[in-house]
Amino acid sequence: MSDTQAPPAEPAVEKPKRNWRTFVLGVCIALAAASGAAHAQGTHQVQALKITVLVTNLAGNARGGDGEWGYSALVEASGRKILYDTGSSPDMVLKNARALRVDLSDVEEVVLSHNHGDHVAGLMTLRREFAKANPKAFSRAHVAARIFEPRLNAGGDDQNGLRDIRAEYLATGGTFIVHDKPAELLPGLWLTGPVPRPHPEKNWSPGLSLRVANTLIEDNVPEDSALVIATGEGIVILTGCGHAGIVNIAEYARAIVSGKPLLAVMGGIHLFAATDQAVQWTGARLKDFGLKTLLAGHCTGIEATYILREAARLDRKTALVSTVGSSFTLGRGITSGALAQ
Ligand SMILES: [Zn+2]
Ligand SMILES: [Zn+2]
Repeated sequence: MSDTQAPPAEPAVEKPKRNWRTFVLGVCIALAAASGAAHAQGTHQVQALKITVLVTNLAGNARGGDGEWGYSALVEASGRKILYDTGSSPDMVLKNARALRVDLSDVEEVVLSHNHGDHVAGLMTLRREFAKANPKAFSRAHVAARIFEPRLNAGGDDQNGLRDIRAEYLATGGTFIVHDKPAELLPGLWLTGPVPRPHPEKNWSPGLSLRVANTLIEDNVPEDSALVIATGEGIVILTGCGHAGIVNIAEYARAIVSGKPLLAVMGGIHLFAATDQAVQWTGARLKDFGLKTLLAGHCTGIEATYILREAARLDRKTALVSTVGSSFTLGRGITSGALAQ
């Protein structure tokens, strides 16, 4: 199947291109996850890395973009760009990127962390806007298995955030690449695919159902997936809502790329409604993993971020509430927005 054009009748998805290495690693990781053992797998490292937040709930500068309930961040790694999530309003990523003078015109790969509308709604605006000059712009969307499954509310209506966007995107020649296991998108930069959940963190909002074998079960957002980036200083994790649970994600990240300490966790961790006890447990586990930097945004919750900061033994320079325009750079750490130090 072509990367940029999908046939009209059965256009849904492209299976990821696998080489022997990816396949072997995938098998090894599945076995590692099944046995509970974590073995070093990926060997590549990203040498240069900057992650800039384009959408999150808070904005600290009227000329530097607006905040909204949603998430998006631009990853620049080893000379390549990947957009992770696309915000909640159709044009918020585009507006904020322009306000921040962030160039998205050469972005061809996008990752959608899960189906929720506050992470996928900007996809079509970005595809249409930048495809005018570059047909490959935003033409490849990486997602995890099961992302397209209907999410049924009490009335039986499908609330999947990609329900309408999927067909629109395919009609533009865009392609979805569906991952059912970890995939190395760039040397040293991995998408987890679905994350094993040995810890019952349950960091999702209840109310929707999945239909499995004609039975309705709670929608635990099974496709929720994060970026895992191996660097010489440790592992960087970027997560959209963290519905899989950040401790589950961190353990899986260490199985994928190594047992190295966590250099940084960025993004939404969906702890805003969690008990203090649950947040303290999470922070303590992150401390055990050697967490050095936390730039928590979106659904993490502001109070929860401060509890995490204390539990992980971080401080005002190393653990912040993320704002639009805040960033993490390898070798430099966090550059904050105007708020929340
Ligand atoms: Zn979500
Ligand atoms: Zn969200």
